[in-house]
Amino acid sequence: MEEIIENKTADFISMSGPFIREPNLVTNIQDNKDYQAQCVSCNRCVAALMSNLLPIRCYNNSFPKKKEYQMMNLTV
Ligand code: SF4
Repeated sequence: MEEIIENKTADFISMSGPFIREPNLVTNIQDNKDYQAQCVSCNRCVAALMSNLLPIRCYNNSFPKKKEYQMMNLTV
């Protein structure tokens, strides 16, 4: 991220999904510059948010139950 800013490839970097999964992500990166964020950008959290039915959280490792998928209008 520092390299992208320093090279002026972008003016800023925004993250949101990664903080849903790892609220302490910045600290983890500060402690280890090689740290890899656990968010895989699957956007299941966004689908949950858009459903207005499911709580916002990371759904990558704990897939919503079939009923939850149906509530989000996603196929199983
Ligand atoms: S559901 Fe997917 S996109 Fe959302 S925080 Fe988890 S891994 Fe990232």
